[in-house]
Amino acid sequence: MTTVIHRPAGHSERATCLCPRTIGPGFVALIRASGTVALLARACSRAALLCGAAAMAALLCASPTPAATQTTPKVLLIGIDGVRPDVLAEVPTPNMDALAASGWYTAEARTTTPSVSGPSWSSMLTGVWPEKHGVTDNNFTGRDYDAWPSFLTRVEQERPALATFAALDWLPLAELEGGDPVLPPSVDTRVVLDGYDLGWAEADAELTAQAVRHLAIADPDAMFVYLGNPDETSHQHGSIGAEYRDAIALADRHVGMLIEAVRARPGYMNEDWLVLISTDHGRRADGGHGGDSLEEMTIFILASGSDTANWPPPGRAFIVDVAATALDHLGIGIDPGWELDGRPLGRPR
Ligand SMILES: [Zn+2]
Repeated sequence: MTTVIHRPAGHSERATCLCPRTIGPGFVALIRASGTVALLARACSRAALLCGAAAMAALLCASPTPAATQTTPKVLLIGIDGVRPDVLAEVPTPNMDALAASGWYTAEARTTTPSVSGPSWSSMLTGVWPEKHGVTDNNFTGRDYDAWPSFLTRVEQERPALATFAALDWLPLAELEGGDPVLPPSVDTRVVLDGYDLGWAEADAELTAQAVRHLAIADPDAMFVYLGNPDETSHQHGSIGAEYRDAIALADRHVGMLIEAVRARPGYMNEDWLVLISTDHGRRADGGHGGDSLEEMTIFILASGSDTANWPPPGRAFIVDVAATALDHLGIGIDPGWELDGRPLGRPR
């Protein structure tokens, strides 16, 4: 089953610069019609230098700092289900490696108890532990996302003019009997696929393609893209062997497509993107998880772009820090009254 729910964000798109290889005749006509040729030519000459030679990670780092230019903060959170950091380190993942090398990375962050997708994703997205959001299993009974909303919902509440986006193939994150999922219809654009129905690799590929398309034609400010294939593959094979590792490598290729789409955005040079990549839990060697062993409780968090190269050392980092970090980057002050358990990773801790 494929469901795509789309509510227009209601603000116009910006087009100020493109890499030369991505400029088409239609866009040139648009530039001329807009009467901003000189401005665009200056901006694009800078982009051409960058786009022609630099690696993907360097491009992310090359975005102007807020001090130098007024840039628009934006967040892309990529969540990959069930990736053990020690296995991730053994799998060829050139896209994530490049981002980590020029950004900020920890392979020693901690997830929720229990180490199960329902509570763990709820904590990553809301910034609070299960005692608050109430989700302790994959039935989502006891959830209270009204009191503890996801960071995308907070964005809609605090800054409704910002455009939010979520793409996922594990249905309970967006559709639950009785309503009130963690990613509700108040998120401006939701791409909701069913990985069990489509096949997980296929579903991840399709939602990645839709997110890439959205980055090209719309103007999202806060995004969450969920990739479910690694976790499901490990469960299917009951191991952390070759199939699981291939699924992680495929997820890295999807990460690469998303980063490329960010980099190719018309307004990229005037945008301050923070890319966050993380996972909800680890797993045992037999593929299972849910317990409190180090293999199950240890997760990675990767941050790239913006000023992440200057962030303080990770120290003790937790899954609940991700939402706080995203909100902080968007300039949404974290109200102490929200009682978030997480703290922004880029701030002194
Ligand atoms: Zn999971």
